[in-house]
Amino acid sequence: ECNEAPMVTESVSATAPSPAVESPGLMRRLVHRPLAVACLAYVAALIAVAVIAPIVMPSVIGEHAGDLLASRQGPGMHHLLGTDALGRDVLARLLVGSRVTVVGVAYALVVVLLLGVPMGVAAGFIGGWLDRIVGWLADLTFSVPAIIVILVVLAVYPQSMLAAMITLGVLAAPGLMRVVRSATLPIRKELYIDAAQVSGLSRPYIIARHVLPRVSGAIIVQISLLSAVALLVQTGLSFLNLIVAPPAPSWGGMVADGVTSLVLQPWLIWPPGVAIAVTVVAFGLLGDQVRDASAEGWAAGHRRRRKRAAVTSVAPRAGGRKNSAAALSAPRQDVSALLSVAHLSAALPSPAGSVGVLEDVTFDIGVGEIVGLVGESGCGKTMTAMAILGLLPAGGHVTGGSIWFDGQDLAAGTERELRQVRGKQIALISQDPMVSLNPVFRVGWQLAEALRYHRGLSRRAARAEAVELLRKVRLPQPEVVARQYPHELSGGMAQRVSIARALTGEPRLLIADEPTTALDVTVQEEILDLLRELQRERRMGMLFVTHDWGVVADICDRAVVMYAGEVVERAPLVPIFHEPLHPYTKALLSSNPHYLSGGQDLPTIPGTVPAAGAWPGGCRFHPRCGYATVECRTEPVRIELPSPGRETRCIHYDELIPTRSSERS
Ligand code: SF4
Repeated sequence: ECNEAPMVTESVSATAPSPAVESPGLMRRLVHRPLAVACLAYVAALIAVAVIAPIVMPSVIGEHAGDLLASRQGPGMHHLLGTDALGRDVLARLLVGSRVTVVGVAYALVVVLLLGVPMGVAAGFIGGWLDRIVGWLADLTFSVPAIIVILVVLAVYPQSMLAAMITLGVLAAPGLMRVVRSATLPIRKELYIDAAQVSGLSRPYIIARHVLPRVSGAIIVQISLLSAVALLVQTGLSFLNLIVAPPAPSWGGMVADGVTSLVLQPWLIWPPGVAIAVTVVAFGLLGDQVRDASAEGWAAGHRRRRKRAAVTSVAPRAGGRKNSAAALSAPRQDVSALLSVAHLSAALPSPAGSVGVLEDVTFDIGVGEIVGLVGESGCGKTMTAMAILGLLPAGGHVTGGSIWFDGQDLAAGTERELRQVRGKQIALISQDPMVSLNPVFRVGWQLAEALRYHRGLSRRAARAEAVELLRKVRLPQPEVVARQYPHELSGGMAQRVSIARALTGEPRLLIADEPTTALDVTVQEEILDLLRELQRERRMGMLFVTHDWGVVADICDRAVVMYAGEVVERAPLVPIFHEPLHPYTKALLSSNPHYLSGGQDLPTIPGTVPAAGAWPGGCRFHPRCGYATVECRTEPVRIELPSPGRETRCIHYDELIPTRSSERS
């Protein structure tokens, strides 16, 4: 602990970004753009005028507002923008008429927002049948000619601007819905959304606090553009005298008056025309500015993530591991069953139909026991972890077997039951801590949010406990870290925050999905030490997903080896290292750079892991196995029990035991 503190402190200051890129806030980026400020100021002024002008100039609205002796005058001292055919002041009518325009646009926008945002987010976040129904409804709406429908509605409700603009809102909502859905889809796949689900947070809460802030930029852009469209439709209908009856002033009606007087006083068409054009341009430019500001913000975040990834990926992962032999000989804790996965099978959807990704996966984890789940990428390790949490990718489902946890079969559990377990009793630490944290909220807020949800703490108590948790995971200056955004943290600090978040529900089982893979070797050691200490202190069971035998030797009690969606070997740590009973385990151990002496080439396993759905018949490892016989290629291979505590899915396991193979020869 003493060695670690100075190094992490250094990383706090080393990674602190410049103020220009520190804030993820859209508004803060917008105010640095003069054009955006001008557009916002114009829209704000327009709204203010729409509210105030009809109050301070009520005489403009009346039937006897004009002076016929002063009709069709050009701009002058008494009438800055001249007078119309009835001698009414054009400027006053323009200001008062802005209310009709603003109210009409507001009607349409409220309807668009109320329909488009919830439906778009739900379709993108939940997917499946809901997405299909919403898409079908959108297609149906797109195929309807909007202006015809509005005219039909106005035939039923004459002069009703409310009916006309609500109809416009309903017909425009699918456009916003599609944009919001598209913006939600990639966010749905972000690990911090999975982390929030793992924390047990409800779906509406995750959508409100984690998804909506991320799609707000896209919504504002669309709303700006829709405002311009709504304004044009509203003024068009006013021009035709369909929604605002004379003598009430409206911009569209004023354009119509100007057209009538085009020969006698062509000036009359200019004031309302310019007002409409400037407002439409302001809405359009505001949308552009919001889009550019959003893109700028996320590009800055992307550059920071890439830079950090480049820094962490150059460090060797293998070196610096503690002596494996010493770790192997360390006493292990007594265990009793906490999680029992039995004959678990799962499938994912694909264009060709359902494809199995897990088959007959069986293993146990005891209280206070750490089990390593080992294998190459694509063997089903992460899929197993996600199946335990009930978080298989969209459309994925458990097709057989059971997942018993604390007397409850999670494989048969409902979403509500799983939410009671996730985060509270089973927590997850993911491979890339940075993407499992929401980039738009401060670290302390994210921890306090989980604490309030799981432990029902008050806002104040949750904030204090969040700082305490940051201290527990050995982050120096936890008060400072609590006020930072995720992009201000180094990889090691972010992983500590991720561990702190996993502890908010005081879980009994921790699933660590390659938690040290993205970290440099020194930080890996520190994180493993921290995990080991926390696990012993709280007597948590732990499923440690990894492809690194050094990590397994360092921290695990037992190992479960997976290949092509199956468990191929299970054993306590010492025997599996000294006497692997499956050729795949043996090959993996031989490929471990820890066991090479200088100048030796690193052995590799020929071929690659077959993709799900393309698993070979017989033993799935046979195309890559040096011990394969005809039997291996034709017969399904069952689990063998060579000795107490040992299990292998190999019919020739005895050839891997030196004494038995020499006896046979
Ligand atoms: Fe190799 Fe045959 Fe054993 Fe499969 S069953 S691992 S092919 S020896």
